[in-house]
Amino acid sequence: VDTHVIDGTALSRRLRSDLAARAAALAGRGVRPGLAAIEVGEHPASRVYVRNKLKACAEVGLHSEHVALPDTIPEPELLARIRALNEDPRVHGILVQLPLPKRLAAERVLQAVAPAKDVDGFHPLNAGLLATGHPRFVPCTPAAVMAILEAEGVNPWARHAVVVGASNIVGKPAALLLLQRGATVTLCNSKTKDLADHTARADILVVAVGKPRLVTGAMVKPGAVVIDVGINRLPDGKLVGDCDFPSLLGVASRATPVPGGVGPMTIAMLLANTIHAAELAAEGRTPGQAGEALLQVQRA
Ligand code: NAP
Repeated sequence: VDTHVIDGTALSRRLRSDLAARAAALAGRGVRPGLAAIEVGEHPASRVYVRNKLKACAEVGLHSEHVALPDTIPEPELLARIRALNEDPRVHGILVQLPLPKRLAAERVLQAVAPAKDVDGFHPLNAGLLATGHPRFVPCTPAAVMAILEAEGVNPWARHAVVVGASNIVGKPAALLLLQRGATVTLCNSKTKDLADHTARADILVVAVGKPRLVTGAMVKPGAVVIDVGINRLPDGKLVGDCDFPSLLGVASRATPVPGGVGPMTIAMLLANTIHAAELAAEGRTPGQAGEALLQVQRA
């Protein structure tokens, strides 16, 4: 098998030029899509992620705000800041960069973000819409996985997709999206026995664990499509995924590298969600019919 190395950077560049056009169309109607990124404390990786997200906003013409808050901020004050952003008409999307300091209840903080501005898709309402087949804001990383498959012409319909890792922000929503696209899905977690027996049956293999080189070429079916979501920094400073990339070559039909695979597409999906939120706001709609009904239930 001659493995095609998927170029996430090139794919994201293409997507971003479409997004810039959508942002420009909105600007023509007097709406500049805006994103607020909340960062609490100083986490070195978070700083890089937030900076990259804000830079990407600027590149496609989005307004962005970096809300950098001290590590010591009391939770009620953080919630009040989020509520103020919920009401701010210049802000269409709000993200809270994770991880939060442990003393804060992350679930409570994420739930404070208005569902209509929840461009990370972490609010239980948006998670529920996704789970019931009416996705509104899909979490950016699983959305990136699906966008890559689509751009590569890989149709999940009637294929066997195996997702390794079942977190709320990556693995679980990725499995739901694959299921909704017609795949038969196996979702593995840390308790899974004989992981290789599962991975070896995958036509599409998505790995999102956070363990360097957990999946090797020997665990992959020849011809499979492998999407590596993992980002791990080795002691020598090198960035690697959850797959042992060199061993995939000659086995997988297509594979994403790390870096340069899912990462750049994830940021593009965040921009896409923010523009989507702004488009819906410009039309005077809250996003999605089902979403609106559920929002009314939530408000009642
Ligand atoms: P997480 O919340 O730590 O979840 C890890 C998942 O992997 C859990 O479901 C866990 O199982 C499972 N797991 C752990 N060890 C395993 C094993 N040996 N075999 C099978 N499953 C195992 O991590 P996450 O937030 O989903 O992130 C996963 C990776 O993706 C990390 O490297 C992260 O840096 C990266 N990431 C990348 C992007 C991007 O833009 N490219 C975005 C987000 C995250 P249990 O459920 O049983 O605990």
